[in-house]
Amino acid sequence: MARQPVNIIGAGLAGSEAALYLADKGFGVRLFEMRPHKMTPAHQSGLPAELVCSNSLKSTRADTPSGMLKAELRLLGSKLLPIAESCAVPAGHALAVDRDLFAQKVFEKIQAHPKIELIREEVTELPDSPGILCSGPLTSDALAASLQKILGDTQLYFFDAIAPIVSTDSLDMDRIYSKDRYDKGDPDYLNCAFSREEYYAFVDALLEGEKHEAHEFENEYFTNLKFTYYENCMPVEELAKRGRDTLRHGVMRPMGLERDGVKPFAVLQLRTENQVRNAYNLVGCQTMLRYGEQKRIFRLIPGLEKAEFLRYGSIHRNSYLNAPELFNPNLTLKPRPDFYVAGQLGGVEGYMESIATGLLVAKIHAESLQLLPPETILGQLWRRLIDPTMGKFQPVNANFGLLPALEPPIRDKKAKKLALAERGLTALQDFLNPDKASGLPVSEQMP
Ligand SMILES: Cc1cc2nc3c(=O)[nH]c(=O)nc-3n(C[C@H](O)[C@H](O)[C@H](O)COP(=O)(O)OP(=O)(O)OC[C@H]3O[C@@H](n4cnc5c(N)ncnc54)[C@H](O)[C@@H]3O)c2cc1C
Repeated sequence: MARQPVNIIGAGLAGSEAALYLADKGFGVRLFEMRPHKMTPAHQSGLPAELVCSNSLKSTRADTPSGMLKAELRLLGSKLLPIAESCAVPAGHALAVDRDLFAQKVFEKIQAHPKIELIREEVTELPDSPGILCSGPLTSDALAASLQKILGDTQLYFFDAIAPIVSTDSLDMDRIYSKDRYDKGDPDYLNCAFSREEYYAFVDALLEGEKHEAHEFENEYFTNLKFTYYENCMPVEELAKRGRDTLRHGVMRPMGLERDGVKPFAVLQLRTENQVRNAYNLVGCQTMLRYGEQKRIFRLIPGLEKAEFLRYGSIHRNSYLNAPELFNPNLTLKPRPDFYVAGQLGGVEGYMESIATGLLVAKIHAESLQLLPPETILGQLWRRLIDPTMGKFQPVNANFGLLPALEPPIRDKKAKKLALAERGLTALQDFLNPDKASGLPVSEQMP
């Protein structure tokens, strides 16, 4: 019997991953994407898999949760991860990509695939035939409203913010220096060093700066939004409100960023946006300040006095579903068991996590993939999405806290993290190849 084509709603990170995986497995895919006809408040192009904020897919090191997740994705056959790696820009141990090149390459793969039909259209209701819902945190209002009708009032919301990008040729390179923290890798980051006076002047300006108000982002469907942030996406001015020193002990900490042996009072890092390095992202400066205020206040950063802003920071509604209440164990919706949910709308947080769940539902559909081992990051993300006993649900991202404790415990932090990663990848490899359990050295799977 001919297989039914799979409707995928949203050609973002999760949708593109799922589409390419399913198509390679021989499934017909109808991939719906509303851009460029209808844009979201954050996307800039009509290309699939556009990264809306940072261009970093986080660490590749084996002793980090993001590095471990990448290693798992490699074992599971991710389609987007190798494309990202082919678009890498220098960023120390992080996998940062040239976002335009990445999106363009994903687009070309999708367009060239004989099994994928890319349909440029807004979906306003779930189709009657099976599919994957991955319209992301910026799901269009009409679709979100129709989802609420079938899912009830269990859909949740939060806001988050994106950081500004400045042009390289507007930076004062006499004041800015290249250096990686503790000189661990290539000096890929640019650093803006603050004196005590400069730092407090910047923080005070952040505290006094004029901001967008929540109601400016409401609309006819969402009038009762609570103005809350996800902790990892806290606007810089909200962090500054926690204390005048919060930033210099957090995202602007100067440790390991000494210049000529002198430790600055605080340091703002700039991460390159593309392979030609003509644009830089202000690390940790996601913001909801008004545009004029961003220009005034971020120009107080040493070296950015004449910064030209290629993109201002902004805030957006960021929707996600109450997954544990709504999902079946195979990540389909209880009221629509023929529809999977993946990506950020499905309750994970982060670029890699969105790609990962796109891959997960594609494999569940194509290969009846069973729940992954508990020692894996992806196995634990999956469990969090379907476990209603975990208390109030917040989007989950890759972190070692998800994993079961090591037996016997290891005290040394680095050794412990490596052991967690090694254990997880061995478990995944054995799960995928039960016939040759532990045959391949796991170290070969680690970056
Ligand atoms: C403003 C913002 C900044 C973020 N910054 C970061 C960051 O720096 N780092 C990080 O790791 N994560 C970040 N995230 C979180 C998350 O990782 C990204 O949003 C990620 O792109 C989510 O992947 P996705 O596939 O779920 O959704 P998306 O990549 O957003 O893809 C969803 C797609 O669905 C389309 N779509 C929406 N509604 C419809 C419809 N009705 N019909 C057809 N198509 C539709 C959209 O146009 C989009 O292309 C950010 C999120 C937001 C909102």
